Amino acid sequence: MGIWQLSAARSFQLFGDMFNRVDTAEKVVALTFDDGPTPRFTQEVLAVLKEKDVKATFFLTGQEVTKNPQEAREIVAAGHELGNHSFTHPRLILTTYGKVKSEVDTTEAAIRSIGYTGPLTFRPPYGKKLVVLPYYLSERGITSVMWDVSPEDSSEIGASSDNIISHVADKVRPGSIILLHVMYKSRQASMAAVPGVIDALRKKGYTFVTVSELAKRRAK
Ligand SMILES: [Zn+2]
Repeated sequence: MGIWQLSAARSFQLFGDMFNRVDTAEKVVALTFDDGPTPRFTQEVLAVLKEKDVKATFFLTGQEVTKNPQEAREIVAAGHELGNHSFTHPRLILTTYGKVKSEVDTTEAAIRSIGYTGPLTFRPPYGKKLVVLPYYLSERGITSVMWDVSPEDSSEIGASSDNIISHVADKVRPGSIILLHVMYKSRQASMAAVPGVIDALRKKGYTFVTVSELAKRRAK
């Protein structure tokens, strides 16, 4: 395994606490959204989640929280969980301690400044992490949360809402963490897939929990 593949491996980390799914017999899943918040798309996904009565977890960048604080507040007011997705969304691999600390801490401050008081995990941009990032997160006691179901990895699947829905329905397991991006215009297929993903999983008997609720089911 090359260093690049190693840095992106979803269930491997040199040190620090990390998980990409939870071993449980209970049919629970976490729906997670990366990036943003951005205007319009935030309101659009919040309306879907409200209609379906689902609580999700949003991994936001500090930069976009600072630019769009109103959207961030709306996510919080709707009762969803927030996560830290770095400030500028860099590839945090082969980087310095100071850069990592700044990316994590400024985002945390931005998220707290809009009034969010809930649990705060970290999701590395591009899923990339190696040595310095896990070291800093473990020093701070921050858990990294990856995913095990990501339909957008394949452009063929990611371009079609129907394909996204069937991929998620096919790959999901009890304790899964699903990753979708809905905050940009280029991700319209993902946005349009959200109601169908929720319906398909409910039909299979799943209920939706946030990442921190899922984490409570981890084996001690
Ligand atoms: Zn991202």
